[in-house]
This record gives sequence, structure tokens and C-alpha cells, in this order.
Amino acid sequence: MNDPTTKFTAMTNAINPQKAFSAFSCLFLVIMLNSCMGLTKSHGYLDKDDPPLKEPVVMPWNAPSIPQGYHPSGNNFAGHLGIDIIGPRNTSVIAVDSGTIMTTKWDLLYGYQVVIRHNVKHEGKFVISRYLHLNARVVEAGDEVKRGQEIGTLGSTGFLATYPHLHFELGFAKTKKQHFFITENPHKYWYDGVGKISCFDKTKEYKKKTLGITYPLLCQ
Ligand SMILES: [Zn+2]
Repeated sequence: MNDPTTKFTAMTNAINPQKAFSAFSCLFLVIMLNSCMGLTKSHGYLDKDDPPLKEPVVMPWNAPSIPQGYHPSGNNFAGHLGIDIIGPRNTSVIAVDSGTIMTTKWDLLYGYQVVIRHNVKHEGKFVISRYLHLNARVVEAGDEVKRGQEIGTLGSTGFLATYPHLHFELGFAKTKKQHFFITENPHKYWYDGVGKISCFDKTKEYKKKTLGITYPLLCQ
């Protein structure tokens, strides 16, 4: 007998819309909770007035490469507000300048991460760097770190990481405790000058009192 109820049951068993809907709702809920509960509160936000970099970016031959650069899009959610650097899993990730660890945590989208507030100020604002998708963290909140010191290892943790890489962000906050900050193109602030990616060199003396970052992975 061609019973419509049986047909409907068979169809629901095949695609299981209830389960699919419930799985989707759970994922949505987890993402919303993740944002709403402030688990991702140290997100960087785009500075809409940030002009594009005019200078070419000069990459040292031995620096781990950047498959995705900084791409502001005028929309906080659609741009890429940092640079991605690739390297083997568990490569040391190092501090781009001296400072204090603000946070080390795990979050759903970005995995294990470390946030540093640096000792220099830039145009009256606090300088913050953020390192995402880490495999492990080797520092704790409150730790003082020196430029070049290992803070964690490269990984692919978090939903948004599809391959091992470091997502690195540089930004500025108005207050010392502010966890969200305006991101800017990191290529503007290399130690050796705009667009000049500067590898960390432990034999070099770093005296600059203004903001000047070195690469978050060793060049070797
Ligand atoms: Zn990225």
C-alpha cells in the first residue's frame, strides 16, 4: 500500500533532517556562546582608516613564507586581519618584541593562542600582538617575555585552521586591560622599516625605543 506516512518516515530516515537540524543548531549555539561569553574577546578589529601599504614587502630568503597576507576589506568579518606564516608543526613561535603575556587560552575558532601587550606604546596606544592556532603554549598570563623568546609552538588548532600555520596579528588598544584592539598591517612596523620583514637575531642588540617588531618565527 502506498501509505504517505511510511513514505515520509522512509525519507526522514534517509536524510534525518531532525538530526541534521539539531547538529546545525548545536554548532551555531556553540559559535554564538563562544562569541557571546567573551571567549573570543581578544579579537582584532580593523582600522577602517588604515591605508594600504605602498612599499613592497621584502622577504628575507630564509624567512618562513606567508601564504596569506593582511587584507582589510572594510568589513570586520570578511577581511584577513593578520598574516599567516607557514612552517612545520611544533616550530617555535617567538615574541615579536618584549612585553607581558595578557592571555593564553583556547577558543573554538582560533584554537590555542597567546596575546602579548608590549612595553612600547605607539601614538599613545598600547601595542598588542596575537598568535593563533598554536599547537602548544609555553607561557602563562602575567609572564614577562623578551623579544625572540619562545611563547608557543606552531600548530593548526581551532576550526579556522585547515593546515599548520601561525596567524599573527598586531594591533593597538586604548587601555592597558583592553582585550580587543584595532589591527593594522604588521608589515608597517618591522624593526628595519616599513615592508622590511626583520628576522630575529639573538646576536643583535635591539635598542629602538619605538615600535619595531621582528618576525614571529625564526629565519633559518
Ligand atoms: Zn590567518
